[in-house]
Amino acid sequence: MKDATLTRKSNPDHHSVIALTDTVSVGGDTLLIVGGPCAVESEAQMAQVARHLAQTPVQALRGGVFKPRTSPYAFQGLGAEGLRILDDLRHRFQMPVISEVMAVDQISAMAAQVDVLQVGSRNMQNFDLLKALGRTTQPVLLKRGLAATLEEFVMAAEYILSHGNPNVILCERGIRSFDPYTRNVLDLGAVVALKQLTHLPVMVDPSHAAGKRELVPALARAAIAAGADGLMVECHPVPDQSVSDARQALSLEAMVDLVHSLGPIAAALGRHLAPNRAAPALTTV
Ligand code: PEP
Ligand code: MN
Repeated sequence: MKDATLTRKSNPDHHSVIALTDTVSVGGDTLLIVGGPCAVESEAQMAQVARHLAQTPVQALRGGVFKPRTSPYAFQGLGAEGLRILDDLRHRFQMPVISEVMAVDQISAMAAQVDVLQVGSRNMQNFDLLKALGRTTQPVLLKRGLAATLEEFVMAAEYILSHGNPNVILCERGIRSFDPYTRNVLDLGAVVALKQLTHLPVMVDPSHAAGKRELVPALARAAIAAGADGLMVECHPVPDQSVSDARQALSLEAMVDLVHSLGPIAAALGRHLAPNRAAPALTTV
């Protein structure tokens, strides 16, 4: 990867810490745990998720409003109405929100209403989108392409950095292989390699890797043991009723159990979860 000059690690202790907000960051000793549904479905659904997770070590919420669906007839996301819901929630619950941007013309509205712009696997090599995100200062969560090599993945990040935005978080989410039992294959070797090659934070999404909820907690723990800086996990108040990715969604209770099971593994690596947030922060909700 001889051209990967901006993402390259200059020495083993070179780790970029990327701030999502004044109080939440990723890449330091505190693991960033992100939870939420595949898609924003309604204000009530998202508020239920936020209320359940706000007093736990989960520090950020996820939810797609522009959904890249295989079928054009499937739910495509709430769009602008979904952004309004996310913007409202992040203020009410004081939790940063992450949502996928699919097109250059969505960037300015999204940058005003969400904290982190996610580039999905299907857009990892949408170079116009990467360049446009590079001209902002918004944190970008860049997901690995469905069958992207590590070189392609790192060079996609390099596009964003080379256009001026240093705030890139990498996310391993499983790669395509031959066995349909799991939706994808979680590549933990990639997590180890990316931490050696680049100074960027590396997160793991075990949900899209596994595709089955019963596999998610163990894969999440393995990711932290492999050195991931955080996790993004899909969860839903009524998982089987999720409009998308129902089979991989955890219940909110299972999400909290999973997060608490990470504590000893984090400690073994000299890291920790964020502390539970105090109830008074919620007096305005
Ligand atoms: C998602 O995070 O909802 C998503 C669509 O993920 P991916 O791009 O990894 O498939
Ligand atoms: Mn999903």
